[in-house]
Amino acid sequence: MADPTAGPGELLIDIDAIGVNFIEIYQREGQYPLARPFTPGSEAAGRVRAVGPGVSGFRTGDRIVSQSVKGAYAELAVVPAERAVRIPDAIDSKLAAAVWLQGLTAHYLSHSAFPLARGDRALVHAAAGGVGLLLCQMAKLRGAFVIGTASTEEKRELARAAGADDMIDYTTRDFAAEARRITGGAGVQVVYDSVGRTTFDRSLDSLAMRGMLVLFGQSSGPVPPFDPQILNRKGSLFLTRPTLNHYVATREELVSRAADLFRWIESGELAIRIGAEFPLDRAADAHRALAGRQTTGKVLLVP
Ligand code: NDP
Repeated sequence: MADPTAGPGELLIDIDAIGVNFIEIYQREGQYPLARPFTPGSEAAGRVRAVGPGVSGFRTGDRIVSQSVKGAYAELAVVPAERAVRIPDAIDSKLAAAVWLQGLTAHYLSHSAFPLARGDRALVHAAAGGVGLLLCQMAKLRGAFVIGTASTEEKRELARAAGADDMIDYTTRDFAAEARRITGGAGVQVVYDSVGRTTFDRSLDSLAMRGMLVLFGQSSGPVPPFDPQILNRKGSLFLTRPTLNHYVATREELVSRAADLFRWIESGELAIRIGAEFPLDRAADAHRALAGRQTTGKVLLVP
C-alpha cells in the first residue's frame, strides 16, 4: 500500500502510540458497518512529518494527539489538523494516546451529558475499564459519590483506587438492589452505562426519581427496542445515548476539554493506567483481550 500524503487541511504523522477502543471491535464485527477493506483505528499520538496545504498552527516535528486519525493502526497516517491537539512537553506520547479518546469521553460524560454536582450519586459500569477508571476519577473531582461495577476483585480494587466509594460484582450480584442498599433506598441520580444489553433494564431500576441513564456503549451487545412508557413508570426518568463527536463538535470545545485533561495529568489529579501494550502486528491479540474482558485501563498498540 502506498504511503499516505497530507492533503489540504491535513497533517501527516509518524505514529508513536495507537489507542485501542471498543468501537473498533464493533466496526470489525460489523455492528457499526464500514466500507471494506478499511484500516481500523482513530486514536493516535505522533510526530508531524508533513503539513498539508492551508494548515496553520502546526509545524513539522510537533507532537500531536487526535481521536480522528484516518486508519490509526499504522506507522504513518493523516489527520485533519482541525482535530489534532499539540501535546505538552511534560507529557509523553504514550500517555497522551492513553488518556485521549477515553479521557475526552469521561470528561463530557461527567461535565456535560450529566454534569455531576457535589453530593450526586453516580453508578459507573465497567469501572476498571479504559473509560471507567477515568470516569471514576473525574466524578470524584466533581464531588460525587461513586458506586462502580466490575467483574473481578482485581478490577474492583483498581476502581476503588481510582476513587470509587463502593464496588459491586455485577456478575454475581443484583447491582440495582445493591445500589439501592448502598444509597439507603434512594437510588442514584445517574447511571453511566457502557455495557448495554446485559445491564440496561437494571440500570433504569437503579435510578432515583427523575434520574438519568447515560447509555454510551454496548460492550455486551445492543439494547433491544423498548417502550418509552417505561421511563414514566420507573420515575419520570431521562435516557440519553450520546457520542463523543457531538461533545467535541467545535475546536474550542475539543481544546477546552483537552486542556483540563493535560492540566490534571500534570498536577497529579488524574492517574492514567496503561493496562496493556501490544506491538502493532499483534492488534488481533489486543482485540481478543479487550473483547474478552481481560484488560484494565488503556490498551495501546506500538508500531
Ligand atoms: P473497556 O476497557 O471498558 O472494556 C469493556 C469492559 O466492559 C470490559 O472490560 C468489561 O468489564 C465490560 N463488559 C461487560 N460485559 C461485557 C461483555 N459481554 N463483553 C465485553 N466486555 C464486557 O472499553 P473502553 O473503555 O474502550 O470502552 C468502554 C465502553 O465505552 C465501550 O462500550 C465503548 O463503546 C464506549 N465508548 C463510548 C463512547 C461514546 O462517546 N459514546 C466513547 C468511548 C467509548 P468487566 O470485566 O468489569 O465487566
